[in-house]
Amino acid sequence: MNFAEIENKHTSGVYAKQALTIVRGQGASLFDVDGNEYLDCSSGHGVANLGHAHPKIAEALYKQANTLITLFESFPNDQRAMLMEKITALVPGMDRVFFCNSGTEAVEAAFKFARISTGRKNFIAAMRAFHGRTFGSLSATFNKKYREGFEPLLPGVSHVAYNNIEALDKAVNEETAAVILEVVQGEGGVYPASLEYVHAVRRICDERGALLIVDEIQTGFGRTGRMFAIQHFGVTPDLLTCAKSIAGGVPMGAVLIGANVKNLTPGVHGSTFGGNPLSCAAANAALDVMAEEDLPRQAEVKGAYLMDRLKRIQSPHIREVRGLGLMIGIEMKQKVAPYLKALQERKIIALNAGMTVIRLLPPLVITYEQIDRLVNVLTDALTQDAND
Ligand SMILES: *Cc1c(COP(=O)(O)O)cnc(C)c1O
Repeated sequence: MNFAEIENKHTSGVYAKQALTIVRGQGASLFDVDGNEYLDCSSGHGVANLGHAHPKIAEALYKQANTLITLFESFPNDQRAMLMEKITALVPGMDRVFFCNSGTEAVEAAFKFARISTGRKNFIAAMRAFHGRTFGSLSATFNKKYREGFEPLLPGVSHVAYNNIEALDKAVNEETAAVILEVVQGEGGVYPASLEYVHAVRRICDERGALLIVDEIQTGFGRTGRMFAIQHFGVTPDLLTCAKSIAGGVPMGAVLIGANVKNLTPGVHGSTFGGNPLSCAAANAALDVMAEEDLPRQAEVKGAYLMDRLKRIQSPHIREVRGLGLMIGIEMKQKVAPYLKALQERKIIALNAGMTVIRLLPPLVITYEQIDRLVNVLTDALTQDAND
């Protein structure tokens, strides 16, 4: 059966489909329908931090599926309670949590919480920011490519230059409900924030009574070498959104909530599937694996090794290599689509971030042998002019 043909026939049309049908994964490897092995340097945009088919996730899902799959959050549950304790323990000062089912839902919840808490309407996001594709989160997403055709979006959302303290200082006022920020921009091109900037954002928000939302949907759960990227900066946000790798690949989102957030009373928000026992069991197992295998530390050490090797590649086509932990961007002087194609032909799956950046988000369990293979293929591919 030709699965690609079937998908091409029935797809909604909103995805640019690859010619590659993937049917299995193991660690940092993916396998196509013919059994060919690919090194996954995308992790499904940062979902598979634990690697594919982790046995502890499989076991937790099997056990919980045989116990209880669904339960609305108005009824307490053993798995959810344990997860609440575990996840809030990760960030001192954030003792409450709201569960949902995806990244964009976490951002929507954070926006509602910020409005109800402050009684203010406006939001400030950064240029190049990506926060999701539903109307609220899309309003905070910067790129025209995602926004065009969907206006009018949420009023009162403005974008300021990233890492620019003066621009933010001018923008935040008594009508600002919250500033939303990725501390390493992902989709926008892999740009880490500076230490001074993040500290200034916190100070400016505090001075003007605005909340700080940090979007850790891509950077969370070990990716940058800390459990959350904000921990590199020594700052506590008021709302922290996460999703992607929270539950070992199972769909889930969450918002961690700090003490400044008020007025969260029954009925203010909710989600049918949010906090279901199956996702919670997977997230409990995922957080255990992250601790047992010390995945943040693995990302830090392997990220430093990979970064060092990438910076040594001598190529007239590379403009800059940047990132944090195992979240790495290679900015090229030309469009990267041909390079990604060349990598895929050499059995490496990588991502773009905009037109000119190759984004590497491998599972944090990637082996050194796999990293060396990646570097060898990249050295070969990136020293050539793929746009010829
Ligand atoms: C992926 C992502 C989102 C959106 O998550 P979905 O689960 O696709 O809705 C939001 N913010 C950031 C930073 C992301 O990387």
